[in-house]
This record gives sequence, C-alpha cells and structure tokens, in this order.
Amino acid sequence: MTLLQREIRAAFQSSSEPLSVPALMEYLTRQGLKPHKTTLYRNLERMVADSEIEEILIDAHQVYYELKVAHHHHALCRICKKVMCITQDMCDGSVAHLESALKSSNFRPTGHHVVLYGECGSCQS
Ligand SMILES: [Zn+2]
Ligand SMILES: [Zn+2]
Ligand SMILES: [Zn+2]
Repeated sequence: MTLLQREIRAAFQSSSEPLSVPALMEYLTRQGLKPHKTTLYRNLERMVADSEIEEILIDAHQVYYELKVAHHHHALCRICKKVMCITQDMCDGSVAHLESALKSSNFRPTGHHVVLYGECGSCQS
C-alpha cells in the first residue's frame, strides 16, 4: 500500500461525513502530500471497485465518497455543500411503495439513494 492510499483511508476513517475530492485534497495537503488530481481519482476509483468506499452522486458536479457502511441516506446543505449522513432509515417504507409501483411499470429497481436538501446548523441565520 502506498503512503497516499494509507492517508486516503485515514481521511475517511477520521471523518464522520462523506468527503468530496476538494475536501480530500485539503486533508492530504495538511498531511504534507500533494497528489496529482488524476492520481487521487485513480485511487478513489480503485477503492470504489474494491467496495471499500461508496460514491454518492448528488449531481454531476458534486461527488462525495465515504466508507462503505450499512445503507443510509444523506442531507446536503445547499449553502456550504456539506453532506451529512442520516443514520435513521425512516423513509424506506415509502421507498418500498415506489419500488413496487415501478415493478408494475416493468422496471426492476436495484437500489436507491435519497438526498434531502436544506441548510445546516451553521448556515442558518
Ligand atoms: Zn451549511
Ligand atoms: Zn453516509
Ligand atoms: Zn433507503
């Protein structure tokens, strides 16, 4: 394992929130590493392929990564772009309804991702 890979793992382990590439870059720079963006992306891609981390796509311009854990949902602050993990999985009942509705349209659902948009505590004023 390279030093960069070790530090990427450490970044995820020390964060309670999903990390974007700029946030990861910031962490790595603080650790005295200056990886090329392509190298960082290549490492993240490999970790995703190894099911070590998961990619959370909020939209095409906002990709976050986190360690692969039990299924859960996320909340995005529209102002500071911080993503929080929602540990209570309260909406899966409604999601199950959506899934069975899709089945009757001959669509086979294989998963879902729920993102709630809003303003975090420090951005509310
Ligand atoms: Zn915020
Ligand atoms: Zn999460
Ligand atoms: Zn769910």
